[in-house]
Amino acid sequence: MRFAGLLKQSLTDYPGKIAAVLFSRGCNLRCPFCHNAHLLVKLGRTAMDSEIETSQLISFLKERRGFLDAVVFSGGEPTINPELPQVIRQIKEIGYLVKLDTNGSNSLMLDQLLQQELLDYVAMDIKAPLEYEKYLQASGRLTFEDFFNIRSSINLLQTASITVEFRTTVVPVWHQTEDIIQIARYIEGARLYSLQQFNPRTTLDPELSGVKPYSKVELNEIAARCQPYIHKVRVCNV
Ligand code: SF4
Repeated sequence: MRFAGLLKQSLTDYPGKIAAVLFSRGCNLRCPFCHNAHLLVKLGRTAMDSEIETSQLISFLKERRGFLDAVVFSGGEPTINPELPQVIRQIKEIGYLVKLDTNGSNSLMLDQLLQQELLDYVAMDIKAPLEYEKYLQASGRLTFEDFFNIRSSINLLQTASITVEFRTTVVPVWHQTEDIIQIARYIEGARLYSLQQFNPRTTLDPELSGVKPYSKVELNEIAARCQPYIHKVRVCNV
């Protein structure tokens, strides 16, 4: 497996830990608000030149033992790579905590990773209320199978014994307060739900550059309305 980029040290991507962040290439969805558009295309179709091989990554992580606590797999969508479980296994063998950022559309792999105790933290995006048409709008491209798998992933994570965070990038054109509350009700009982501020500066769909994000006050009000259903709701920047 090759990665499109490596952030050697982050204090924010794995709460409370010092983590390296790996950016995988490619994604099955096309969320119009995606701010990592340069990672969506497959290898060989981009000018980006610094691909990182698994062997280079493992050497780097061995050197950094004692300085880093964790490795975060981000993207793009890491689970579209069939080699991902094998790479994570190698990283766990060195002794690192592993966090996966995912859109949840590969529930089969997520189940496998959970069963094999290869994950310590999963942050899963929930793009919209769990209705196909609404989810399609917010994710840009969505098969029925993806949609089914996303709901399966939520079910898996609701009973997982690791740290789980659900998160939604709140985009005013698709998300009214009631939509976010609907999501909160769907994941009722979840430990952590993060409402991420939409950033109009770098979006896959240029038309979104004219959309004004909710203010912090408005997002806090939406978060408060979700609070009855979730242990902790937080508002954060993407
Ligand atoms: S799931 Fe959406 S936001 Fe995440 S990388 Fe894919 S297109 Fe971008």
